[in-house]
Amino acid sequence: MTLPPTISRAELLAKFDTFLFDADGVLWTGDIPVPGAIEFFKYLLADPNKRAFVLTNNSTKTLQQYLEKIGKIGFGEIKAENVISPALVLADYFKSNPEKFAGQKVYLMGTEDLRKTLEEIGGVECYGMGPDHVHDYTTGYFIHELDMSVIPKAVVCSFDSHLSYPKIMKAANYLLKPDVEFLVTNEDYTFPGPIPGVVIPGSGTTMAPVAAVSGRKPTIFGKPHRPMMDFLKRRAHIDPSRTVMFGDRLDTDIKFGNDNGIASVWMRTGVHKLEDIAKAEIGGDGKEQEVVKPKGWIKKLLTGQHPVDPSEWQKQSHSSLLSSSEYIYEIMTHNYRPGEQEKYLDAFGTYKDEVLNKRSSIELVGSWTVGYGRTRDQAIHLWRYKKGYEDVDGAIAMHNDDGAVRAADSEVARLCGRRKNLIVKSFSYWREPEQRPPSHVYDMRSYVLQPGTMIEWANAWAKGISFRREANQDVGGFFAQVGQLYVVYHIWAYPSMAARNDTRQTTWAKPGWDATVAYTVPLIKKMQSKIMTPTKYSQLK
Ligand SMILES: [Mg+2]
Repeated sequence: MTLPPTISRAELLAKFDTFLFDADGVLWTGDIPVPGAIEFFKYLLADPNKRAFVLTNNSTKTLQQYLEKIGKIGFGEIKAENVISPALVLADYFKSNPEKFAGQKVYLMGTEDLRKTLEEIGGVECYGMGPDHVHDYTTGYFIHELDMSVIPKAVVCSFDSHLSYPKIMKAANYLLKPDVEFLVTNEDYTFPGPIPGVVIPGSGTTMAPVAAVSGRKPTIFGKPHRPMMDFLKRRAHIDPSRTVMFGDRLDTDIKFGNDNGIASVWMRTGVHKLEDIAKAEIGGDGKEQEVVKPKGWIKKLLTGQHPVDPSEWQKQSHSSLLSSSEYIYEIMTHNYRPGEQEKYLDAFGTYKDEVLNKRSSIELVGSWTVGYGRTRDQAIHLWRYKKGYEDVDGAIAMHNDDGAVRAADSEVARLCGRRKNLIVKSFSYWREPEQRPPSHVYDMRSYVLQPGTMIEWANAWAKGISFRREANQDVGGFFAQVGQLYVVYHIWAYPSMAARNDTRQTTWAKPGWDATVAYTVPLIKKMQSKIMTPTKYSQLK
């Protein structure tokens, strides 16, 4: 197999002015941004000599819904004018041919959201959306006649989860008339889904039976077909020789580049793998094919700086993208009985010694009592498992099997009301907590986030944290792995409460800090702050 040549970021920027991106598998996978993609897109948008467009085949959402979705992933900079979908290209086709379509009826096998786009931009009137069940026509198996008093100007096939026998029959009968146009948003037969091995039928599923039964050949608006390229030329006046397409699929993205005379870059972050390139080179007749072979590729993603192997990208879990460390932490919360603090701390000391004696890779990093917070009479302990989950398993086993650990744990339990613990990992942009000489007060902030916003949170704080490093106030940032999920902890240290006040005010005065706060506040469902003082066991003094 001959691999396509590799291209660097510098070469790309020198050779091309217009950058076209497929979305899923290129800029993000699922709702996780591909490393470097957000930064690269922003860079292109900020450069007055470059232009960037997302070319998506997604036609189920309205443009507004699509922008909201990608904003949540971290691509908030992408505006309506940067997104091109088959729905928009199709709507533009209706709009550009008013003599045939203005105010006219179109039979739509598609979603309500597609209807909105076609009607609002294209100026047509859609009908046929939603359920259309065979039992509304007959009690038998077949429908023998149809009401043909209304004939549409076009039949549009797109993703339709209400696809049914009557719909196929209507479409095929309308298409008997040669002046009824057969239009398809995109022919993707499946959607990428969250669960590997589950097939999710796409727009092509609606098109295929209508094409088969009617014998008509549709005009397809999505990649890799020509209308999308024509739309770009018309609307954005692009120069094909200075344009490059980034894609993960050979049959849509790379073919779009090849068929339309523009260079393409294959990204190894999505659906197609190296083996598919090899297969694409050798056609069914055993001869080399030119059609879907990419003309360029990049190995190290968009910035060329990330050490991850992009072909492994999809296998990475959410948490490994947020955390680069093997360490696991446990945050232990004990509500000791009022008036029993001293006894409790003695019992905890015994328990801690037992655990640390059993496994040298476990550390007690922080240990505090709560001075101000919702609950008084509370102790918080931060444990580090240096061997990760291996240590967690070890800890579980010792709490079940080791008599001395069990006895010490029971004694702690006897002196407590509620006990709670949480397995967390450290965010990659925070440092791992280190020993800290006396003396500090600690501020632990816990945030419950809106589900699905952890990446956004991490993106914003990765920048925000730099505003708070100067005063050496950052101790650790953690996100939950087990226990209450979508929870984040930030621990800060200050020489005193007065210093805390000063430092926080200084931070507010720094340009840029308010943007971090403005960006992260909407992600928060609940937050809490606790002021804690170290116990004698704490490495963080
Ligand atoms: Mg893709």
